[in-house]
Amino acid sequence: MKLNATSEMIPITWPEFAQPHPFAPADQLQGFKLLDEQLRAWLCQATGYAGISLQPNAGSQGEYAGLLVIRAYHAAKGQGHRNICLIPASAHGTNPASAQMVGMQVVVVACDDQGNVDMTDMQAKCEAHSANLAAVMITYPSTHGVFETQVKALCALVHQHGGRVYVDGANMNALVGVAAPGEFGGDVSHLNLHKTFCIPHGGGGPGVGPVCVVEDLVPYLPGHATAGVAVNGVGAVSAAPLGNAAVLPISWMYCRMMGAEGLQHATETAILSANYISSRLKGHYPTLYASAEGHVAHECILDVRPLKDATGVSAEDVAKRLMDYGFHAPTLSFPVPGTLMVEPTESETLAELDRFIEAMIAIRDEIRLIENGTWSQDNNPLKHAPHTAASVTADDWSHPYSRERAAFALPSLKQQKYWPTVGRVDNVYGDRNLFCSCLPVEDYKS
Ligand SMILES: *Cc1c(COP(=O)(O)O)cnc(C)c1O
Repeated sequence: MKLNATSEMIPITWPEFAQPHPFAPADQLQGFKLLDEQLRAWLCQATGYAGISLQPNAGSQGEYAGLLVIRAYHAAKGQGHRNICLIPASAHGTNPASAQMVGMQVVVVACDDQGNVDMTDMQAKCEAHSANLAAVMITYPSTHGVFETQVKALCALVHQHGGRVYVDGANMNALVGVAAPGEFGGDVSHLNLHKTFCIPHGGGGPGVGPVCVVEDLVPYLPGHATAGVAVNGVGAVSAAPLGNAAVLPISWMYCRMMGAEGLQHATETAILSANYISSRLKGHYPTLYASAEGHVAHECILDVRPLKDATGVSAEDVAKRLMDYGFHAPTLSFPVPGTLMVEPTESETLAELDRFIEAMIAIRDEIRLIENGTWSQDNNPLKHAPHTAASVTADDWSHPYSRERAAFALPSLKQQKYWPTVGRVDNVYGDRNLFCSCLPVEDYKS
């Protein structure tokens, strides 16, 4: 989880940022105007793009805006018939959804066994759809957590066939200060300020998904009726001219305090941390996708699927057991079902990374005790995790493992222990069996 520093958050509490109405007269929004200009200039520098709009309120809305830009560009060139959008199978679900929303037809491109875009299939599909190719949407580094080495060739190929390249920038935490999508072949990207640029997004918002474009697409960026819409622009993509303006000071503070050097250092540390976890856990949980040299980008997908057949232990059981060890689980079953995806970012110290790694190894050792028959497949600390204080102190204890094992599996937990507040919930049952927990109306009578 990326740090949302207090110093980044403080300015959004200032009335000067918190109170102005989005449609206040321009002379009362001078500060926001400056903020908009400076932040866009810094983000252009970080991405290698020529123009940016901060209007979209989410990454997905940035995708939508970016594809509208591409559509408007083709229409202005008399190529309005171009409506095919190539998307690799590894893409985030919002990519095909956005393409659909702007009326493009999605054609899926295969991935190879290493999780990379299959270049042979990409070439075949570019050729088959050459006359109608509007765009390709790729993610770099990929959602599989790998820097795909053929990305430049891929961009060149799409350009040869008259299409524009959309580089999904959600993984910019692996690029800022190191590589720029606007320089290696991208034409349009969105950023997720609520991922890479420190806006907290617990609970689903508020987000900011700026859309960034190369020089010849700048005239098509979103505009707003109050600001005057550019001649070729795609109009507004959100109600307020500057989108979720009130949270922009967070990303401004992050860039300003880090500086170019600090941002590059953060990227390098994020990549190093992910590779450290992947390599230290190699003998316990293999990383599903890596480069030919065995490296990952800023995240690694730990494959626990083989354990399921041998021991019945699922990724969800590991996630629940991590709570007993004092950790919130990493991303579960995305992008590959049955796996755990770990993105440590630059924010964790080496000691914290080690604490996580030691917990994961201890859990693997517990799984080994199921493998060798010490515990059965359905009565072991993983299947009953998480353990609440109430459950381990109850008079009734019927498990083949000790209470100490349940709650204090590592000595360090005796020094510092987070107690899960509820035991195991059957998530799927809950999702499929909705019931109302409100009091019946009769209870309000009299
Ligand atoms: C998060 C993410 C998105 C969508 O961003 P939202 O702000 O959630 O709409 C798109 N693509 C990728 C690769 C992402 O990780």
